[in-house]
Amino acid sequence: MKVTDAEIVISAVSQKQYPNDQLPEVALAGRSNVGKSSFINKLINRKNLARTSSKPGKTQTLNFYKINEAFYFVDVPGYGYAKVSKKEREKWGAMMEEYFETRGTLKAVILITDIRHEPTRDDIQMYDFLKYYEHPVIVIATKLDKIPKGKRPAHIKRTKQTLEMEKDDLLIPFSADTGEGKDEAWGAIRSFIG
Ligand code: GDP
Repeated sequence: MKVTDAEIVISAVSQKQYPNDQLPEVALAGRSNVGKSSFINKLINRKNLARTSSKPGKTQTLNFYKINEAFYFVDVPGYGYAKVSKKEREKWGAMMEEYFETRGTLKAVILITDIRHEPTRDDIQMYDFLKYYEHPVIVIATKLDKIPKGKRPAHIKRTKQTLEMEKDDLLIPFSADTGEGKDEAWGAIRSFIG
């Protein structure tokens, strides 16, 4: 997809702030520092629309990016950062539930994992949480450039197995550095936003 227009519309903390123009939506979730901002920026050909390496602990918001006036990417705050307080974690959880439970225009969720490592307990919990709400999940296994070609199939298999991925969910190996997987990612996104 050729992205001609990408702008942040709102950083929302609750439902009443979500856009209500009924455009389809794809959310992006992932552990802090996994490469989520780099993924978004690579897809939309921007250097820094989604801020990379955003500091954990800053205000946790759902960031709605309107793309080509056609759909939204919703950047969900990263999880799994050990140093957040219990109170912050609870706030994060409530915000996640409100969004994933109620958002009718949400078509699919992209879950970013690091292809180098076995998915963490937090990754598994997030995948299970998304499946509980019956959202289609596209797993983007990023940092592919860090794994030699011959070893890639084993890493892909391990990610699928550890998450116990459902057969209808896709896993796409990806690199923000080389652009590998970018066309496949757009293909998957397009199939959900129609
Ligand atoms: P976020 O916190 O999930 O948004 O993560 P960032 O996008 O800020 O990325 C965290 C770090 O991983 C940064 O230093 C990025 O340059 C690096 N990174 C992200 N994606 C890739 C990738 O595909 N390959 C490599 N080699 N590094 C990456």
